Amino acid sequence: MKIIAATNNKGKLKEMRAIFGDLATVVSLSDMGVNIDVVEDGDTFLHNARKKAREIQAVTGGIVFADDSGLTVDALNGAPGVYSARFAGENATDEENVEKLLLQLKDKEDRTGHFVCTIVLLKEDGTEYVAEGACSGVIAEEPHGENGFGYDPVFYIPELGKTMAELSPEEKNQISHRRKALDKIKEFLK
Ligand code: IMP
Repeated sequence: MKIIAATNNKGKLKEMRAIFGDLATVVSLSDMGVNIDVVEDGDTFLHNARKKAREIQAVTGGIVFADDSGLTVDALNGAPGVYSARFAGENATDEENVEKLLLQLKDKEDRTGHFVCTIVLLKEDGTEYVAEGACSGVIAEEPHGENGFGYDPVFYIPELGKTMAELSPEEKNQISHRRKALDKIKEFLK
């Protein structure tokens, strides 16, 4: 079985290939010769993942996989949410986004946050499988650790006593929101 992943992100592709193993061959957009930048303008992770899956399938056909993810913070009513990548502005860096987050949480007592990932898998006949994975933690007062990306340096996991950026890639892949959603999608495919 071949699955077209609606991404060229090397980290995501590596993780998918490791989890799907022999079950499916995962190809990227560039493997398919597709150069489309789907505009993620929805107000939910599901909306964006579904939009990506449908737009890519319209071009490639076949089985298409798309995901959308981000950080939701309870005290900020779910922000930055679907705006995680551009929280501090359209071309914001990870550092700028983290800085804005820490500023907004300055006087908040509850610093609970959740990484969320929604995956849409679209089969050839239009059948859609949706899976969601979440990973909860606490937003730290300041960044720690060098690994990962995005909000990882301030995403503290109390059970492990470390931020996500202090975990090795293998350790992160055991517990991440994306891993949990991918495991569910894998069950659909069996
Ligand atoms: P996307 O799903 O690749 O579009 O991710 C959207 C944004 O959410 C990223 O740019 C990050 O800011 C944030 N994000 C998603 N997953 C993670 C993660 O595993 N660690 C840190 N930040 C993440």
